[in-house]
Amino acid sequence: MDKVKKVKVTLIPGDGIGPEVSLATQRCIEAAGVTINWEVVHAGTEIMEKKGTPLPQDVIDSVRRNKIAIKGPVTTPIGSGFRSVNVALRKELDLFACLRPCKLYPGVKSIDEKIDLVIVRENSEDLYAGIEFEAKSKEADTLVRVIRELDPKARFNLHPAISIKPISEAATTRIVRFAFETAIQMKRKKVTAVHKANIMKFTDGLFLKTAREVAKEYEGRILFEDRIVDNMCMQLVQRPAEYDVLVLPNLYGDIISDLCAGLIGGLGVAPGANIGDTIALFEATHGSAPKYKGMNKANPTAMILSGMLMLRHIGETKAADRLENAVAKVLKEGRSVTYDLKKDRHDPAAVGTSQMADAIIKAMQ
Ligand code: NAD
Repeated sequence: MDKVKKVKVTLIPGDGIGPEVSLATQRCIEAAGVTINWEVVHAGTEIMEKKGTPLPQDVIDSVRRNKIAIKGPVTTPIGSGFRSVNVALRKELDLFACLRPCKLYPGVKSIDEKIDLVIVRENSEDLYAGIEFEAKSKEADTLVRVIRELDPKARFNLHPAISIKPISEAATTRIVRFAFETAIQMKRKKVTAVHKANIMKFTDGLFLKTAREVAKEYEGRILFEDRIVDNMCMQLVQRPAEYDVLVLPNLYGDIISDLCAGLIGGLGVAPGANIGDTIALFEATHGSAPKYKGMNKANPTAMILSGMLMLRHIGETKAADRLENAVAKVLKEGRSVTYDLKKDRHDPAAVGTSQMADAIIKAMQ
């Protein structure tokens, strides 16, 4: 196989199952015929013990420099100043869009036969903005007082904890435009905006109104519709094949991406990317599954498919096709797959992380 081009990519192996699925991914990408110059930097619980922070500056610098990164999952340490390394990276690098294609590959068990969704989640605001006030804190009680002054009808129970949900026209315009551009690029037909504007008239109402405005720019090229989030959940379970590209505010996007991951075989096969204007960071939807750390048990598919998305992003289309076809072949055969893809999760014929990567590499030869 001819090696095509050498690209510099930041690799953050992560922690928990991260290093195992990262190694599997590196091997599969190389086998697809692209020689990457990997710049490996570390974030997560282990580096925290050494450097006192789970997200050292050299990680951010490396991603900024290389513009392309792939990351294993990182555990969110409890009790540190950090809410999450993942959220911090997205904020620091202004990765405003989370892209999660949810495609059902033949051989993987599901409730429907044809599921090929693309989830576009806003990454920078909503209840995920991290603006929270603890119950009984001076700040929360002050906020209650101020809100009562602003809205005498507002009712609170005693000493509530409060989270703030900012939604802006600017961030919504940016994410909805990203969803439409993605739809065009991926040759999709329809964008569905998901919201709860019937109840949250100002926040989700603004999201919906803005989405409708942006949709006008794409009239005649891409269809547009909207759904209320609870109804969307039911419809995705009953008629997933009716949907194409979904665009959602941060929190609904988080929840619906996991729901859709469940529809296509589980977290073990759901890839993703966080994208900004100039930087793209690829990562699986799943977390660090600490209970499987070092056991060679975790499914590497989600991260390998994230690598496939990265190859497409850098224009290595042939290598991406080769890799995706190999993954699809291994999934269809259903033999060399990890425990989560077996009918019976205790099937002794399930293979380990590195053996599944071996099978994918073999399928490319
Ligand atoms: P998780 O995704 O790590 O695990 C949930 C369950 O899903 C696991 O117990 C396992 O049964 C299954 N699973 C996940 N990945 C799998 C894989 N590759 N192969 C087979 N089975 C797999 O979610 P969690 O337990 O809620 O989170 C664990 C840690 O990961 C937390 O600290 C959380 O903050 C962090 N997290 C990180 C990211 C990220 O780095 N982007 C995303 C989500 C969660």
